[in-house]
Amino acid sequence: MLYYSTNKNSPKVDFREATIKGQAPDKGLYFPEHIPQLDKIFLKEFKSKSKAAIAFEVIKPYVGNCMADEDLYQICEHTVNFNFPLVKVTDSISSLELFHGPTLAFKDVGARFMSRCLGYFSKDNKREITVLVATSGDTGSAVANGFIGVEGVKVVILYPSGKVSEIQELQLTTLGKNITALEVQGTFDDCQQMVKHAFADVDVNGKIFLTSANSINVARWLPQQFYYFFALQQWQQHEPPVISVPSGNFGNICAGLIAALSGLTIKHFVAACNSNDAFVKYLADGNFSSQQAVTTISNAMDVGDPSNFVRVLELFNHDFEKVKNFITAYSVDDNETRKTMARVYGQYNYLLDPHGAVGFTSLEKYLNNNPEQRGLFLETAHPVKFENVVSKATGIVVDIPSTMQQLLQQKKSSVLINADYKELKEYLLK
Ligand SMILES: *Cc1c(COP(=O)(O)O)cnc(C)c1O
Repeated sequence: MLYYSTNKNSPKVDFREATIKGQAPDKGLYFPEHIPQLDKIFLKEFKSKSKAAIAFEVIKPYVGNCMADEDLYQICEHTVNFNFPLVKVTDSISSLELFHGPTLAFKDVGARFMSRCLGYFSKDNKREITVLVATSGDTGSAVANGFIGVEGVKVVILYPSGKVSEIQELQLTTLGKNITALEVQGTFDDCQQMVKHAFADVDVNGKIFLTSANSINVARWLPQQFYYFFALQQWQQHEPPVISVPSGNFGNICAGLIAALSGLTIKHFVAACNSNDAFVKYLADGNFSSQQAVTTISNAMDVGDPSNFVRVLELFNHDFEKVKNFITAYSVDDNETRKTMARVYGQYNYLLDPHGAVGFTSLEKYLNNNPEQRGLFLETAHPVKFENVVSKATGIVVDIPSTMQQLLQQKKSSVLINADYKELKEYLLK
């Protein structure tokens, strides 16, 4: 399998090189040359297979000859060695809980897979690799967790100051060792821009070996397909589900779309957005324009210019009608998100985090218009990560697990910088 750049101005590369580079030299995103079609027998039988076996089968065509099968299988086993339960919430809505990994958000799967792949590909590398990552809240800790203590790899995380929850911030800033957190006085989009700038800076790249751990990187993006197979594995109903994906940078939903285009049966997708509604507006008239990000209580989705939008276009050959027929998008503001958390807890005794609440409401809206269908939403983070917001909205005290209690005792350590690329560059070359 080869990957081309969405800007069409860089040479094609294999999985190894796409993983190491992160972003293509022309600043495009790597995209698979063709979408592999899953084996008919696999599609019939995957429900009885182990999670690791499913993951291996799904990702194998994308990795191609870049890794021995045994090694890839081991990485898959490690990546998915926790639970992904599908929990019934109402008669027509279930929740796929993606928060049972080490940092309590769905980013763990992509980050674990990517860090292992990068470790594997850089074994014989003499140069230290710097993983540069912008986070809106959950990516940073998942990536840091994947790389902590890995020799020859340094991780630099950029996060928007004051715009992540307390637990998210502590998860980013207390690891030490080979992990540094840069606290940027700006938004997530500023962080993302600074990271993109660094990748395009010839001077910096001549001096240090940089790679990206955002969903720009195919090794983080593609394994997110696994969730959709695990969802279908547990789906008991006759008709395929509508799947609602809380979306910010659109990496996760793009992974679902590619799984569907390779043969997994999914009825329809709902892109569940908060007040950052660039994609909702795009679906209304086919014109996309990026926005200034606004701050919300579902902060991991506070993205005004989603990186993976270009991958959505690529997946549908830039055919707006096709996009519109397969995806419906909704924007849910903070008020409605809070009301949803309170209502779903009161009525169904199910505690949502703010991102899951956006996913739930969006799915509900879709099903109201399509009452014969059934669906599931991805519950992308544990409510405890947003304990303040969740307890305020629902009036209940969220139990904090003991691992989190320990975290709350620790002292944050970050490097404060302005949203100015010069300051990032200075830090990297220091
Ligand atoms: C990252 C994140 C999202 C958004 O996922 P994208 O792939 O960026 O669309 C949603 N919810 C949570 C909790 C996240 O951490």
